[in-house]
Amino acid sequence: MNISYIIKPAKWSRRVRIAVSGGRVIVTAPMRISKEHLDRIVASHEAWIERAIRKHEKLTAGIRLAHDEFDHREFASMAKAMVKDRYSTIAAPCGVRLGKISVKKMRSRWGSCSGQGNISINLLLGHLPPELLEYVVVHELCHLVHHDHSKRFWSLVAASEPAFKARKAELRRYSHFLASADIPRSADADMVK
Ligand SMILES: [Zn+2]
Repeated sequence: MNISYIIKPAKWSRRVRIAVSGGRVIVTAPMRISKEHLDRIVASHEAWIERAIRKHEKLTAGIRLAHDEFDHREFASMAKAMVKDRYSTIAAPCGVRLGKISVKKMRSRWGSCSGQGNISINLLLGHLPPELLEYVVVHELCHLVHHDHSKRFWSLVAASEPAFKARKAELRRYSHFLASADIPRSADADMVK
């Protein structure tokens, strides 16, 4: 079989890495490697790639978007209000500052939190069930306190959203939608995993 894949130039690494993300095969490789060479490498991992694609298809089978259309401006102001509201109970008591909140389309993550305390929420969440927006908001606010995915981070998430494990799993089922959205890639710092 011929596996189609996306090539991402590796700037710092000399290794070739293959990943299946959102049902797509992504090959990160140094620029000097030829397409023929990459084809051979990908072909030699065919069984693993097919398994990963099947797993993704099983995971995403039957999911549909909750809303086909929504008012972007309305969603953005609702999401910002939610960030401020949850900030007051999750992060403010820890004495951390909330920076700018932006709601925009992002292709590789549902939300992000910068070192300066700026929080970005993916506009595409407007298509998903509202509890998933809430999970992303909580996740990013917890990053204001802990800038990593450490145990301390996850216990703060658990305290703020007891159903976080289910939400996290549910959100993962939409990852193909995130990857397929035809929008420019954002260069933000954190990825909701
Ligand atoms: Zn995170």
